Order: sequence, then C-alpha cells, then structure tokens
Amino acid sequence: MNDLAETVGLTSILGSGENFELAYEQLIRQGCDHEAARVRRAVWDYFVDLELPDDVTVYDQLILSLRAKDLIFTFNWDPFLFDTWARNSCIDGVQLPEIHFLHGNVRVGICKGCCGKWGRVFTVCPECGDRFSELPLLFPESDKNYEGNWYIRSAWEQAKELIANAFTVTVFGYGAPASDRRAVELLKRAWLSQESHVFKQVEVVDIKKEIDCDSLYNSAKACSK
Ligand SMILES: [Zn+2]
Repeated sequence: MNDLAETVGLTSILGSGENFELAYEQLIRQGCDHEAARVRRAVWDYFVDLELPDDVTVYDQLILSLRAKDLIFTFNWDPFLFDTWARNSCIDGVQLPEIHFLHGNVRVGICKGCCGKWGRVFTVCPECGDRFSELPLLFPESDKNYEGNWYIRSAWEQAKELIANAFTVTVFGYGAPASDRRAVELLKRAWLSQESHVFKQVEVVDIKKEIDCDSLYNSAKACSK
C-alpha cells in the first residue's frame, strides 16, 4: 500500500506520501467526493487487470495445503486468491477452503436482487438472471459502511465467530497498519479476548525477522482490555 498512489497514477490527488489509506481518508473528510470516486475507480481498474502467472504460485501452495474445514479471510483487493481458487477447484478429489473477502475484491460480484447470491463479477446470477454487480472496495477507516452491504457484513460476522473458535490462526504477511483499526480489533476481540488459549496457537508467516512472540502476545492482550 505504501506506493499505491504512485502505482495507480493518483499522486496528483493523493500526493506521494506513504500512507495511501490516510490520504484517501483526508479526501473524504474534506468532502472531495469527486476525487474520492476517481481514486476508487483507479484502484479497481488497476487490481482487476492483475493476472496470475501460469506457473504454480505461493497462492496455489497455500490453498492446496488447506482443507475444506479451513477458512481464509483476506483483506486483499487483488484477484490472486479468487483466481487461484477458481483454477484449482476443478481438481478431482480436492476440496478447497472457503475464502471471505473482508474489504471487498475486484473479482467478487453480488446480486442486488438476491441476498446471499454472489460469484465472479459480471457473470449471471443463477437465481434471477441478473449480472453480479461489483463489490465496493472498502477503504479502512473512511468507510463506515461495513454494515451496509450484506456480503461484507456476512464476511465480518463469520470472521468474528470463526476466529473466536479457531484452534489455529495463521496470519499470512499482514502488516496491521495503524489506519486499519477494524482489522486489528477483529483479531484482538475475536481471538485474544477469549478466556482460554491453552490449546490455541497463532502463526505469523512474514518476511520480517523473527520476533519475540510472548511479549507481542502480552502487549496485544493488554491492549485488548
Ligand atoms: Zn439474483
């Protein structure tokens, strides 16, 4: 996210500072609706064109290493997890985990007329024949409308419930930026606030140096009180 404004050609609106989300939030606060809409469009256009290589990727390895009873919750707007799921779902005998997109995703569309129906964006809803509409990409902090979209609301409800009851939570390369308080709260409240962690574990897969997990856990738990 640090160089997203530059990557998608939005520095004239957002500047070239490091925090894309805070710059976008500033736009909203200043009532610059036209510019904010341009930002949302440019971000969607950029991510929707991304494609996986034909080779096996870390996404294929991730999805195929999980089971049907596992779940993936992602904040990513890019289409890589969706496309990986789609291209591996036809393998005989393989049952893939479900994926929930907590901030929306450029490949996911929802039926405006049929609550609960979603699929690849712009394809046809099997229930009513309408095309699946784009899911809004949610920008942390600025968008308070998590509750206003049934798909997003349902994804967050499932995340809260399932993380609270999970035996293992694996965080894959998540930086928890300061601007994304809701995501941090989700992890803290759903998991760290549970009474017993005797048989639970958290794994963090990241390129950073190894950290002192005990002190991280204790400080996170203190924050959640
Ligand atoms: Zn429908």
